[in-house]
Amino acid sequence: MLADVRRRIESACSAAGRDPSTVTLVAVTKGHGPEEVRSALLDRGHRDLGENRVQEWQGKAEALGPDVAWHLVGHLQTNKVRFCTPFALIHSVDSERLADALEAEGTRRGHVFPVLLQVNVAGEAQKYGVPPTDVAELARHVASLAHVRLEGLMTIAPYADDPERARPVFRTLRGLADQHASGRTSMGMSGDLEVAIEEGATWVRVGRAAFEPAGVPPEEPAWT
Ligand SMILES: *Cc1c(COP(=O)(O)O)cnc(C)c1O
Repeated sequence: MLADVRRRIESACSAAGRDPSTVTLVAVTKGHGPEEVRSALLDRGHRDLGENRVQEWQGKAEALGPDVAWHLVGHLQTNKVRFCTPFALIHSVDSERLADALEAEGTRRGHVFPVLLQVNVAGEAQKYGVPPTDVAELARHVASLAHVRLEGLMTIAPYADDPERARPVFRTLRGLADQHASGRTSMGMSGDLEVAIEEGATWVRVGRAAFEPAGVPPEEPAWT
């Protein structure tokens, strides 16, 4: 539940000596229909929502109206950039080709896309993102584009039962962000948001824990 997640964020911030207003909770709504999103999040005053796929997002965005700050947290294909001007932040830019497609669309529409660069810190074969060694070059490229604004870096830590396993990944991302992206990072999910906050996360992306009572495994989405 949202209240549980907010409590977790607050206690992690207090343990880390951080001001909770420096951490933005992005509630990831994939698999949850608009009515569920409205009652679990919007009706409780939460506006930063995340979605993985442009297609799933489109129906939801229409149903939920303009009072939402949408974050695209999943992989973006270049042929979908034309739908992306409404996003408050795109967390998943991982190639010059995608950055260039956003630049072209932004030029056409007179729009500047706020973006994060997705970094595959752990080098997992099945994950998107640039390797840490390519961050500097991609950041430089994005900085040269007038319609794409670099806001930070994003990573998805490898799945692990022990959240401490994510710490070195988060620490590496933060170091890269300090060098190349104003120190801002999108990292930490339901299982490891405390560790991410200790390591300096600016955005945490939380799905399961925002919808389910603490400790209970996710149910089937109500709309299937
Ligand atoms: C689903 C998802 C999340 C949220 O994951 P949970 O473990 O449900 O909190 C965060 N980031 C991305 C990119 C996701 O796809």
